[in-house]
Amino acid sequence: MSLMFKLEKLSEHTAVDIATQMTTRSSVLGAISLGKYSIAIDSGNPLEIGQGFRKNLESYFNLPVRYLFLTHAHSDHRGGMNAFKDATLLLSQKCKENMPKSTSFSKWIIEPFVDKFVLEENNLSVEFHHVGGHSLGSSVVHVLNEGILYAGDLFFTEPINFGLPFLGFYQSNPRKTGNPEECLAAFHKFKSMKLDYIVPGHGEVVDNPQEYLDEQIEFFNSLKSFIISEIQENKTLEEIELPKIGQIEKAYQIIQTKSQKSKTLRFMDTMLNWIKKSFYEFYKESKST
Ligand SMILES: [Zn+2]
Repeated sequence: MSLMFKLEKLSEHTAVDIATQMTTRSSVLGAISLGKYSIAIDSGNPLEIGQGFRKNLESYFNLPVRYLFLTHAHSDHRGGMNAFKDATLLLSQKCKENMPKSTSFSKWIIEPFVDKFVLEENNLSVEFHHVGGHSLGSSVVHVLNEGILYAGDLFFTEPINFGLPFLGFYQSNPRKTGNPEECLAAFHKFKSMKLDYIVPGHGEVVDNPQEYLDEQIEFFNSLKSFIISEIQENKTLEEIELPKIGQIEKAYQIIQTKSQKSKTLRFMDTMLNWIKKSFYEFYKESKST
């Protein structure tokens, strides 16, 4: 496998590798410099991606890597983590609890946090927030001085999944999909941050954060009210068909430009079924409790 690792500058102290995810089963990879040391954001997957990313990160900032931060417990983000064994593993408590049972932390120095963790150095302030939503332990990193948010899989942007959201499974029991209410709460929290860029877990960097967040909030709210009214009409999951709104409409437009239309439409159907199932199960359950 020939791999290209290519961290690119986002702001003075931050960088992102968008390229690696396009050809591997990895996530977007992020990096922050705090003057004396750097922080890796997600490790990619598998180990050799983690190793290549680390090498690239060390030469990019010319600093030792002190922390590996995991946005959440899914394998495309953590599969390369053993390349960072000498660094401190920073993750939310819920992410730690949601790691696969086979994960051993015995050789790691770990720094689990419940709601929030802050690193301050050289007048730079980096905040880690647990938000949930996509998965039980999902967390984000906010580089305050430079207006950067690494949001993990709270966001998927083009060209991945047509930019449609994906509420992932929890790793451990009970095996459930993510939480749309936590997503919405997180989006509102991000709206109050002063942001220049949002780095998603998959896809391209968002350079119009406020507009993008408004779109996501509107889309989630529309899906929510649609699904709730279908549930109230006692529709089954199979009977429900998602309306062509917001990002779904955009996705259909994108498909019109693709060459392998029927294959792409099948993939789109799979994506839409996941979204439908996630919202349906969540709101059906919250209605009955
Ligand atoms: Zn992911």
